[in-house]
Amino acid sequence: MKIDDITKNTLDKLNAMPAEELIKWAFDNFGDRAAIGTSFQLTGTVIIDLASKHFRKFRVFTIDTLRLHQETYDAIKASEKKYGLAVERFTPDEGTLKRMVDRFGEYLFFTDKAKQEYCCFVRKVEPNKRALKTLDVWITGLRKDQSDYRKTVPKASLVEEDGRKILKLAPLAEWSMEKIWRYIKENNLPYNKLFDKGYDSIGCIICSTPLVKGGPPRSGRWRWFHEEDDKKECGIHTNTVRE
Ligand code: SF4
Repeated sequence: MKIDDITKNTLDKLNAMPAEELIKWAFDNFGDRAAIGTSFQLTGTVIIDLASKHFRKFRVFTIDTLRLHQETYDAIKASEKKYGLAVERFTPDEGTLKRMVDRFGEYLFFTDKAKQEYCCFVRKVEPNKRALKTLDVWITGLRKDQSDYRKTVPKASLVEEDGRKILKLAPLAEWSMEKIWRYIKENNLPYNKLFDKGYDSIGCIICSTPLVKGGPPRSGRWRWFHEEDDKKECGIHTNTVRE
């Protein structure tokens, strides 16, 4: 199948599919032009396991900002070992990163929102754009109950990336955290141990911290900024325009 073959009817059909069927459809129809993009949080863990029920080889990529927690690097290794995967790592462009750090320092994200967004662009968004150039179907771990911003996320949509259409999937969009935990425990999956230390949303060291008790899921992110927790995004999922 080609990306241009995807019609409104196809999207309707995909939006009605359960998670496992949707993941299978993606790899059956697009092969290596489909990939799971994950930061090795709990949803990524579940999606990889669901894919492994049908395929021995499938693409998984991650954005390594070079500032990830050791527990995240451990989770990547554990998944690679369990499923025999070679997770593709996309890292920041060396020259751009050096120029940013030389000019503003390693910890520029404390100063103001614009510099945090600049750092996220260099370390996350640009490497993610490079990853997206290699695929037609981007399988993500977005869920509706992660934040107000994400509550309308569809399971399947066409997005535009650098003038090109991509099919963006969120197979677990409707899964609750309870359902995800149940799946992980029942199937004895390896998971990022930061979730045992109070974290609920994981990104870079310093910028992601354990959850504020009783707070919204993304309240542990950039906690020195007094913006609404529900609107905190690094840009990976805001730069692609939904059709
Ligand atoms: S989360 Fe923090 S360190 Fe990571 S890319 Fe964004 S601002 Fe930079």
